[in-house]
Amino acid sequence: MALTGIQIFKLLPKTNCKECGVPTCLAFAMNLASGKAELDSCPYVSDEARDQLAEASAPPIRPVKIGRGVRERITGGETVQYRHEKTFYNPTVIGALVGSDIAEADLEAKLKAWNAFQFERVGFNLRPELVAVKDVNGDAAAFAATAKFIADTSEFNLVLMTEDLDVMKSGVEACGFKRPLMYAATEANADDFGALAKENDLPLAIKADSVEALVPLSKKLTGMGLKDLVLDPGSREIKQSHEDQIAIRRAALKDANRDVGFPTITFPCEMASNLDVESMIAGMHIAKYGGIVILSDFAGESLFPLLVSRLNIFTDPQRPMTVTEGIYEINNPDENSPILVTTNFALTYFIVSGEIEGSRVPTWLLIKDSEGLSVLTAWAAGKFAGDDVGMFVKKSGIADKAKTREVVIPGYAAAIVGEVEEELPDWTITVGPREAPHIPAFLKDK
Ligand code: SF4
Repeated sequence: MALTGIQIFKLLPKTNCKECGVPTCLAFAMNLASGKAELDSCPYVSDEARDQLAEASAPPIRPVKIGRGVRERITGGETVQYRHEKTFYNPTVIGALVGSDIAEADLEAKLKAWNAFQFERVGFNLRPELVAVKDVNGDAAAFAATAKFIADTSEFNLVLMTEDLDVMKSGVEACGFKRPLMYAATEANADDFGALAKENDLPLAIKADSVEALVPLSKKLTGMGLKDLVLDPGSREIKQSHEDQIAIRRAALKDANRDVGFPTITFPCEMASNLDVESMIAGMHIAKYGGIVILSDFAGESLFPLLVSRLNIFTDPQRPMTVTEGIYEINNPDENSPILVTTNFALTYFIVSGEIEGSRVPTWLLIKDSEGLSVLTAWAAGKFAGDDVGMFVKKSGIADKAKTREVVIPGYAAAIVGEVEEELPDWTITVGPREAPHIPAFLKDK
């Protein structure tokens, strides 16, 4: 069980030295209990107290690593039920299924196609991360060969899906170096699968036929010393699956139930007969609260919305995405190219820069720090005021790069034109379009 703030306080040095960033040990204890502080922030905790506090300071849902290297992904590690309470940290890992009997040429073609599903959006590379290899016929050699081919020739992480110990052993031998997720330990094989996962230091999924039935299995495996577990309550009906995800999240967070304090894996591929419905189910599980979702295939038209939905859900709602303040060169501008200025809200930047790129007109784009607010909001909040914008243009260094002495401000900030003129008396201040799609025509006219 997690410790209360007062129980934690009793284990702290009680010197109120403030080195942890808060005024008192009591305040630090309260923050630790609510997951708002890290134990490492206090340098004076004794080893003995550290052991006792480790449990209290550990996330209520264990972060589990799958894969190695640059493509390593963490699932779990969440601390809140609702995103607006703080943030969600580790995006749902999205995977697709292949059977162990797939021909090598077909697998190669699939991996090539799946690897091409990478999308750039607001500065992020969005892509799926996982391939699940499912044992379809008990052929250990074929299972191992498929897993090895994926591990050797692609950047995808792996889930090894079999309940047969010998098949799992050969899969682990073939691709253990990539830290695959073993799926799944059941009531029948938990001892053997637990020992294999422990011996190879691999994450292990547990499958049962209800949330309640996961608990004894989880107890047994943690009792064997396993820490990196992933839960599958076995539900394959949409409503039940949704309820199970919520029940597991609530039990882990609200009831501090460590037996279910692990990320989950869900299988939309086993819950629908076509990829469209699977994708809708996957969307539901990305929102609440699948740690991993497995589809039967990837297709651009269903994968892209899922990736964007995941991006939106797993960003910090209190910290808007921003780009760095500065001068951005688009389409190789020269000293006579037009100069536009806008805010540093990432979406604003990417939409505006995308339209400028599309216009093929060489342009200087000045991005002013507006604390991540879009144009209208920034203007209303005083973060895109005329004198600020004028001062920014002056100090940006654009006058050294361009002879142009005309700056185009966003249409939604037309009200600041007079103040910008006062700050830049030698410049022409032009009000540009309100909406980004009108930028290409505007630039071409100029
Ligand atoms: S750093 Fe440690 S000892 Fe100092 S105030 Fe914080 S909790 Fe107390």
